[in-house]
Amino acid sequence: MKEKNSFPSLNKEALLEGIKLESAYCHRPKGCYLAKVSFREDLSSLLPYLKPQVKALYYEPENILIFKWKRGETFYKISLQGDLLKFGVVSDKDEAREVFSDLIEYLRELFTKMDEIEPDLKPVKRPQALEIYKYLPKTNCKDCGEITCLAFAAKISMAEAEPEDCPHLNKENLELLRSLLE
Ligand code: SF4
Repeated sequence: MKEKNSFPSLNKEALLEGIKLESAYCHRPKGCYLAKVSFREDLSSLLPYLKPQVKALYYEPENILIFKWKRGETFYKISLQGDLLKFGVVSDKDEAREVFSDLIEYLRELFTKMDEIEPDLKPVKRPQALEIYKYLPKTNCKDCGEITCLAFAAKISMAEAEPEDCPHLNKENLELLRSLLE
């Protein structure tokens, strides 16, 4: 594991320039994108220090951490794996740049307190895709951006999608799925 206080010195401007957007599914009237940024170094060893301080949706110690992060009134889903940071959804490049700037400052601030943090190596997993699939409409309509409901269930299982992303879930199953994921 890295020494504590080893949050990398970042060339923020270069990283901002390196933001890439890929299409994502959402219900926003404007664009829906997932933003990606590659760091120059692997940040996996920082994850056990970040995990206790965030709302983890999925966590494999020293591999990947997906968590919810609130900025203003908006929640973003952040995924950090190796040297790759993904976050979204954002409407455009300008929003991606603003979110990334604030997120880096948030992470930098957190890691100044690393000496006080007890590293957390307990994984956070979600139910298997087949368990989640039971609650989906099973019409394979593709409106969520996935080819099948089972593919969508696999994404929920990996915390890469949320039940709300299926526009055809009835209220009852939506609630059941939400409680299954808690
Ligand atoms: S939108 Fe819902 S019903 Fe349609 S494929 Fe996706 S999960 Fe299945």
